[in-house]
Amino acid sequence: MNQYSIAALPGDGIGPECLDATLHVLDRIQSLHSVRLTLDRYEAGAEHFRKHGVALPEDVLRGCLDADAVLLAAIGLPDVRKPDGTEVQPEMMMGLRRALGLYAAVRPVKLYPGVDSPLTTASAGIDMVILRENLEGLFASFGGGCQLNDQLATDTIVITREGTRRVVEYAFELSRRRQGRPSDGRRQVTCVDKANVFRSFAFFRKVFQEIADVNPDVDSNAVYVDAMSLYMVTSPSEWDVLVMENQFGDILSDLGAALVGGLGLGPSAEIGEQHALFQPSHGSAPQLAGKNVANPLATILSAAMMLDWLGHRHDDDNAKQAAQTIEHAVMTVLKERDVRTADLGGTSSTEDVANAVADAIPVTQPSPS
Ligand code: NAD
Repeated sequence: MNQYSIAALPGDGIGPECLDATLHVLDRIQSLHSVRLTLDRYEAGAEHFRKHGVALPEDVLRGCLDADAVLLAAIGLPDVRKPDGTEVQPEMMMGLRRALGLYAAVRPVKLYPGVDSPLTTASAGIDMVILRENLEGLFASFGGGCQLNDQLATDTIVITREGTRRVVEYAFELSRRRQGRPSDGRRQVTCVDKANVFRSFAFFRKVFQEIADVNPDVDSNAVYVDAMSLYMVTSPSEWDVLVMENQFGDILSDLGAALVGGLGLGPSAEIGEQHALFQPSHGSAPQLAGKNVANPLATILSAAMMLDWLGHRHDDDNAKQAAQTIEHAVMTVLKERDVRTADLGGTSSTEDVANAVADAIPVTQPSPS
């Protein structure tokens, strides 16, 4: 049986509660399935910066680099800021992404049975992935940029052939592993850009097209980002994998989460050649912290994505099965509608939800749904 080392970062705000809830579910899966995780818990983030003046200590970064995978709950506190007025959260996240080479952020947008979408256009279902290029685009300017005489400020978008190639190739691989778009099951990768206006995005689309041409088994198309923000609302069942520049992905993934129950149901995987990090799409929601009311499902589903990634990377069917079992348990809890936190219209606590998911993990393997 494979054993995986996990660097676990509870972080700030609701992070520790969401991580504890997730570890409860992971304990249950380990007790019933042939998967073993060893966890090293590291303190890092805004609270750590407030106390010690550093958000991502060297030993924590080393621990993340040495681990088989990183599980992070939430980082950042709005009142903890650097002298230039920015939060410490981006420095830590960009630091981790750059050090671990996490070029692809995978953000599933999936409407589970038992969850109400605010849309009336989703009768065929919603199951798409926002694939965000995670190291370049506008975020490449992080730590740079320029401000002149308190009169103007600039940040620069960076699009490279290599950075675009690897995330677009990942998009086609991802589509092949999925069931296609909900409307008709066709596999489809869509380039989301602003190629009508900017050279950088015209180049992104050019490289996309070159890769689409050698992957003819998967449909491909391209849509401008402004139109895509409309189509995600008016025809949400028509999309499979949407690949895009960093900042566009940051924005559209929150829109996506809003379509399928909110940030409490938005997991994510950040993938590199050698490393991967898994975290909910939400932040630290400091107003909910310490109250046992945060929705832990995004973190739990992120842990399921972690097991799935470990399973594919190490050719380990047990880890893949454990991932499916956790997602299935989450689906069971959502479908029954009895146990849910306030963001989904319920009154249950974070711990109640964790217990319900753990209890929904069967002793025997579930039949595929
Ligand atoms: P947020 O995601 O923390 O909260 C946005 C809204 O969603 C709030 O109304 C919050 O109550 C709600 N929400 C978020 N997660 C929830 C959950 N699990 N259950 C129930 N409701 C939930 O975003 P914000 O308020 O803009 O940022 C708060 C802090 O988080 C900031 O310091 C920000 O920098 C940080 N942040 C961190 C990350 C990260 O760790 N990757 C991402 C986004 C924001």
